[in-house]
Amino acid sequence: MRAVGQRNTLPELAVRAILRDLGVFYRLKNRDLPGSPDIANRSRGWAVFVNGCFWHGHKNCAKTKAGLRPRLPASNRGYWGRKIPENRQRDARKCGDLRQRGFRVMIVWECELRNPAALSGRLRRALGSSGVCEAKE
Ligand SMILES: [Zn+2]
Repeated sequence: MRAVGQRNTLPELAVRAILRDLGVFYRLKNRDLPGSPDIANRSRGWAVFVNGCFWHGHKNCAKTKAGLRPRLPASNRGYWGRKIPENRQRDARKCGDLRQRGFRVMIVWECELRNPAALSGRLRRALGSSGVCEAKE
């Protein structure tokens, strides 16, 4: 199972659909930016990562609260016990690198897609007028 670094996951597709509804321009597979953000707009200076709650160790996960989050797999527990904190550290580093380059960085957690209206509002506020499509100059 290759869960980290996967592209075109269902959560990512759902976030892209929300951004399209908001009229936000974006690019995918931003390999030249630190951490290759899933979705970004270079000229507007923002980047979005869509993170799976389990693999990226979401602390305040809505799924956990609802009792839906899978526990560490029974096999390779030691591996995941190390891997998830490593993923979190790498995520923090990626965000830091991007912020240093002047990007606003937003993490969208998979569990937020349980409430698309709230997520849409958060994206609209976060990306604001700098992200939303404006009349061409
Ligand atoms: Zn979560």
